[in-house]
Amino acid sequence: MAKLLVLILVGYAIYRMFKGRPELKEVHRDADREEETFRDPVCGTYVTREDAVIGNLEGRKLHFCSMSCLEKFREQLETAEKNSIGGEK
Ligand SMILES: [Zn+2]
Repeated sequence: MAKLLVLILVGYAIYRMFKGRPELKEVHRDADREEETFRDPVCGTYVTREDAVIGNLEGRKLHFCSMSCLEKFREQLETAEKNSIGGEK
């Protein structure tokens, strides 16, 4: 009976050793990934800092997946500006 208990304890220790390591790695990797991803406001794609096209619009730094998305966003902004000016005056 005591032998069985020791076996269970050793088995549990080994199980924890093997289970614990990959989990720690994954958590660390996820944290890194989250830190460096930005959401493209046009198409909703998540891009990393390295892949992102950074646009500086109205003092805000925005990250896009491609130049075409940046252009689209700029067009939308211009259209919205024109509409608001036209509506007020
Ligand atoms: Zn995009």
